[in-house]
Amino acid sequence: MLEEKVQKNFLEEIIENDLKEGKVKAIQTRFPPEPNGYLHIGHAKSICINFGLAQKYGGKTNLRFDDTNPVKEDTEYVDSIKEDIKWLGFNWAIERYASDYFEQLYQWAIELIKKGKAYVDDQTNEEIRLNRGTVTSPGKDSPYRNRSIEENLQLFEQMREGKFADGEKTLRAKIDMAHPNMNMRDPIMYRIIHTSHHRTGDKWCIYPMYDYAHGESDSIENITHSICTLEFDIHRPLYDWFIEQLGIFPSHQYEFARLNITNTVMSKRKLLQLVKEGYVKGWDDPRMPTICGLRRRGYTPESIRNFCEDIGVAKRDNLIDYSRLEGSLRDDLNKRADRVMGVLHPIKLIIDNCPDDFVDELEAVNNPEDESKGTRKITFSNTLYIEADDFMEDAPKKYFRLTPGQEVRLRYAYIVKCTHCDKDENGNVIAVHCTYDPASRGGNATDGRKIKGTIHWVNAKDCVNAEVRLFDRLFDAEIPDKVEEGKTFLDNLNPNSLTVLKNCKMEKAVIGAEHLKKYQFERLGYFSVDYDSTKDYLVFNRTCTLKDSWAKQK
Ligand code: ATP
Ligand code: MG
Repeated sequence: MLEEKVQKNFLEEIIENDLKEGKVKAIQTRFPPEPNGYLHIGHAKSICINFGLAQKYGGKTNLRFDDTNPVKEDTEYVDSIKEDIKWLGFNWAIERYASDYFEQLYQWAIELIKKGKAYVDDQTNEEIRLNRGTVTSPGKDSPYRNRSIEENLQLFEQMREGKFADGEKTLRAKIDMAHPNMNMRDPIMYRIIHTSHHRTGDKWCIYPMYDYAHGESDSIENITHSICTLEFDIHRPLYDWFIEQLGIFPSHQYEFARLNITNTVMSKRKLLQLVKEGYVKGWDDPRMPTICGLRRRGYTPESIRNFCEDIGVAKRDNLIDYSRLEGSLRDDLNKRADRVMGVLHPIKLIIDNCPDDFVDELEAVNNPEDESKGTRKITFSNTLYIEADDFMEDAPKKYFRLTPGQEVRLRYAYIVKCTHCDKDENGNVIAVHCTYDPASRGGNATDGRKIKGTIHWVNAKDCVNAEVRLFDRLFDAEIPDKVEEGKTFLDNLNPNSLTVLKNCKMEKAVIGAEHLKKYQFERLGYFSVDYDSTKDYLVFNRTCTLKDSWAKQK
């Protein structure tokens, strides 16, 4: 028998145990996003866990929109969430909404009232908050706590009918105002919100709270393992309490550590603020940690899934370095991306001993990691573009690129020897001159002399123009949320997170590339075709550099 390669995480252990002991027959998980924003990389982690576990153990995963707060929710978000989950490569068994269960939840609330386990409270939110007590002192019973069951039933019905204004009344579970767990001090089950809901319209003006709606929705769907992030562990007793009081399907909640990544924020509220206030160009701005932002940047679903697998499932909060996400991206793109040559900061290279009508076709490898990708032809002439910083007039000793008197190899082509440069009246280099060694076709000298440097280039006579967008971390600070008094996370924005280069030169192989097509521009990094790209105007996003350049800066 094959030995298990990787150690099991704690959720896998729980599930295997539950299956072995016959506690559950088949596992059923759910991914429960609130449709109040776009999904981010943290959600991807939760998606990979929920869908991944069900896949691994032959179970199913539901997609359930947790749409219990009409004020912040919208169908735009519902659509984007579905698109992102599918793009990540997962399929849900059924699609549900907490709002599908509003009637059932209402009936169960009546049941709890009838059992003397819930009551209508007239206290204001402020009073409720003040009377909750503190972690070290008990709360105070509401003066309305002992209303008769009949009165509670009547008032709750009137709440539903819209007889009261927002905040005038709430329905609370009757548990224990001195409970050591603050969440058990008569938590609010329903509040009044006179706002149209994106699905139920004006049918309801009372909406269930997360703690009441979530576990009961899990139970309706026979969810066996309700997996959420650590901050919900103190809610678990309440989750269990409702299910026990109602005697319904015993779903269980399990908590794992949420994903935090350096140099970014992951709260939907903050991401929304970045979009609304114009700090980025939209939810899918390539600098955003959203799934759609990562997609536009050039991330592949595989790279995100591998990252989630790689970081594992923890029980304690931790901070993952952004470079690990880029690491799994590079691994994946290395296998996937076609190699091409492109020049971001072009300067002309003129080969003086090469006739003006000389054209040579050379063979270039599309992907050295994947032979099946084949080769392509690139053309060579006496006028090329090279990267401006591949030439230096007064170069230090270890500079192996172009400087007068020195030879370099032009990738796939010939060895050239730099002779001199042309400058404009301000002393800026506008062209570099060289001679080439016609015997070195393919890149090697016939006399065996060693050439240390190899540079990339494009043929100025048939290359295409392109816009290239370079990105840096959106925030300078490792933890943007950690700020001094009087400052906000916005003060940590990196003012140089976007650089647009409009005069880049690409070999013609990229003409007609479809959106999101991935390339490695040799020596420069991985690039992806942006949505703004057209047949006549190419736009590339730099997905990442070839090496971790950020590590050096720190
Ligand atoms: P936010 O605080 O940004 O609004 P949220 O937790 O309220 O996020 P939901 O839409 O409620 O967002 O989240 C759906 C699921 O994704 C939940 O189960 C939640 O625990 C999980 N999730 C959200 N953020 C992370 C994260 N950073 N790491 C792992 N799981 C996460
Ligand atoms: Mg939430």
